Amino acid sequence: MDKPYHFWIGVIVFTVINLMSSQITITLIAIPVAMTLFPDLDANTPYHRNFLTHGILVWLVVWLFNPILLTALVCLGVGLHCFLDINIHSEQQKGFYLIKFRKKGLFKRFKGRQGLLSTLWLLFNFIGSVVILVIQLKVI
Ligand SMILES: [Zn+2]
Repeated sequence: MDKPYHFWIGVIVFTVINLMSSQITITLIAIPVAMTLFPDLDANTPYHRNFLTHGILVWLVVWLFNPILLTALVCLGVGLHCFLDINIHSEQQKGFYLIKFRKKGLFKRFKGRQGLLSTLWLLFNFIGSVVILVIQLKVI
């Protein structure tokens, strides 16, 4: 892990969320915190930063089929990782920063305005994960 702050910010965020709710369990802290580290499991593969690991799509489907607080927090864990990966300096939005999408059988990084699109993708997924949690908390 080149970014240990993903873990510690996850610990703080999910501890605070649990303290605000009535259901404080170690599961609702430990699993979402682990999910803040999940996207970088592909860090040493050619598929690093593809849209499936650095995005909530897969976890959104899991939440839709099983809309409980834990799966909503799993989405937020991945979304938080996406948010923490955002680099606002446009000159640094290149190389491994770029999100890969499937295109003609291979994962390709965005072309053209790829840095901005990658930033928007990361931000959109973070906002999506927050929206999922808001929807989940209204259901409870
Ligand atoms: Zn990452």
